[in-house]
Amino acid sequence: MAGSATPPNRIQKIVVVGGGSAGWMTAAALSRFLPSSFTKIELVESEEIGVIGVGEATLPTLHLFNQRLGINEQEFVRKTQGTFKLGIEFVNWGRVGNRFFHGFGDFGPLIDSVAPYQYWLKLHMAGDQTALSEYSVPSLMAELNRCAQPHPDPKSPFSAFLYAYQFDAALYARYLRDYAEQRGVKRTNAKIVDAKLRGENGFIESLVLDNGECIEGDLFIDCSGFAGLLIEKTLKTSYEDWTHWLPCDRAWAVPCESISPLTPYTRSTAHDAGWQWRIPLQHRIGNGYVYCSRFIDDNAAAKTLLDNLDGKVLAEPRMLRFTTGRRKKLWNKNCVAIGLASGFIEPLESTTISLIQNGIGRLIEYFPDRNFDPVLESEYNRHSIMEIERIRDFIILHYCATSRDDSELWRYCREMPLPDSLNYKMEVFRARGRPVIYESDGFKEASWIAIYNGLGVIPKTYDPLVERYSVDEIRRMLIEKRTILRRGVETMPTHEQFISQYFHTDPGGMA
Ligand SMILES: Cc1cc2nc3c(=O)[nH]c(=O)nc-3n(C[C@H](O)[C@H](O)[C@H](O)COP(=O)(O)OP(=O)(O)OC[C@H]3O[C@@H](n4cnc5c(N)ncnc54)[C@H](O)[C@@H]3O)c2cc1C
Repeated sequence: MAGSATPPNRIQKIVVVGGGSAGWMTAAALSRFLPSSFTKIELVESEEIGVIGVGEATLPTLHLFNQRLGINEQEFVRKTQGTFKLGIEFVNWGRVGNRFFHGFGDFGPLIDSVAPYQYWLKLHMAGDQTALSEYSVPSLMAELNRCAQPHPDPKSPFSAFLYAYQFDAALYARYLRDYAEQRGVKRTNAKIVDAKLRGENGFIESLVLDNGECIEGDLFIDCSGFAGLLIEKTLKTSYEDWTHWLPCDRAWAVPCESISPLTPYTRSTAHDAGWQWRIPLQHRIGNGYVYCSRFIDDNAAAKTLLDNLDGKVLAEPRMLRFTTGRRKKLWNKNCVAIGLASGFIEPLESTTISLIQNGIGRLIEYFPDRNFDPVLESEYNRHSIMEIERIRDFIILHYCATSRDDSELWRYCREMPLPDSLNYKMEVFRARGRPVIYESDGFKEASWIAIYNGLGVIPKTYDPLVERYSVDEIRRMLIEKRTILRRGVETMPTHEQFISQYFHTDPGGMA
């Protein structure tokens, strides 16, 4: 944009409210794409209120965000005490004693235009007990505690996986703050006590701070977390509550000391009234118990968490309360809500940071001028709502497809009425093992298959095209595939070796 003629109605000042991951991701990205000569950016945060401080596991899409911001991966991993995440291990989901892996990768290329899962299904129906995860590179890497970059040759079976990061949320926000401030973002540490609206159209005009100062702006980005300071308290946008589908509403979070080996994945262990996360970082393990307060009291939930840690506790457990759902509009007048201010599904598949990233991308795509054409707002909302509802259905699947009936939460989840959209998807899958994927579905075929299969949802039959091969032919084919994969993975470095080889040196000093 630098050097081009200045559009007459351009947004001259953006005010970002909040300095958590959402606020600093937004400020960093906007400062990268809107030079300060074009638009001034100011971020207001209150150190006294602080940030939520969880949100440490991500999805592979974060690569794209980092790439677009020109972030150096080695520096990023070092400065955030980052580790690598190949997927999520689910323990006791589906049934007690069950264990499966949702890896960031597929189950291999199509065989005669048919998904390899269909061949596995035919073999499985013929009595073969080999786990589907034997054909997933990231699952094998997780099992053997290995880590590597995907192979650069797209024909290699070791090219078809992705990785995400796990990092310290406070260090992440600090890292992005440095990035944004270097690009001209002004930071103000103060508490916002009021917001003034323009009489003629109800747009936000300015924010009043506790030190008496007033901050004016054209566009306000609400990253104030669960407070929803502008989108809800000021603009009264209202909230769609999803507690009837996603009943967990509280979490205890606590860090503990690291143990060896350093595993390259997040673990989610289902308990009676919710589930526990375990996110290994370089310097500690992040843990939390997400639970439904209808089915367990807070003290019992804290005890469950503390009784199930791998290392010595490093801080007092903190409790977080939330209501799953979304704002009716994520963009309302001259305010766009990003992060927890826009809604919250729940952290089971670590989706919020990815939603933040997509919200920022969409805002840049539909970036308004001071006329705020309502069609931009409406398209932003249509697309964002579609995206968040598709993720919602994927998360509900983890709960509703369970066979567990050993506690109130799981009995409730088995019986609860589902969104029509999810009912339809499950019906199609049960018929023939074909996941239904729509536009903006964040999770693709392999992810849905991993969860259906992990929870024990087996379709009625397989793709008839698979019949061209006999059971013995398929068995030979699949044995060869899984032998190649396992042998290849066995040659990879361990997660710890991978980090110390590539990420402990200064970026400037790398070969
Ligand atoms: C239990 C739990 C686990 C989670 N795990 C994950 C995960 O693994 N992966 C993932 O992607 N996401 C996860 N999330 C979501 C993740 O925490 C958020 O995406 C992320 O931290 C961004 O939060 P935020 O910036 O929207 O809000 P916050 O971090 O709460 O920041 C809000 C900001 O607004 C400021 N503020 C609020 N009110 C005022 C005021 N009046 N004046 C001035 N400033 C104000 C605060 O000071 C703060 O700076 C999890 C969430 C929860 C609840």
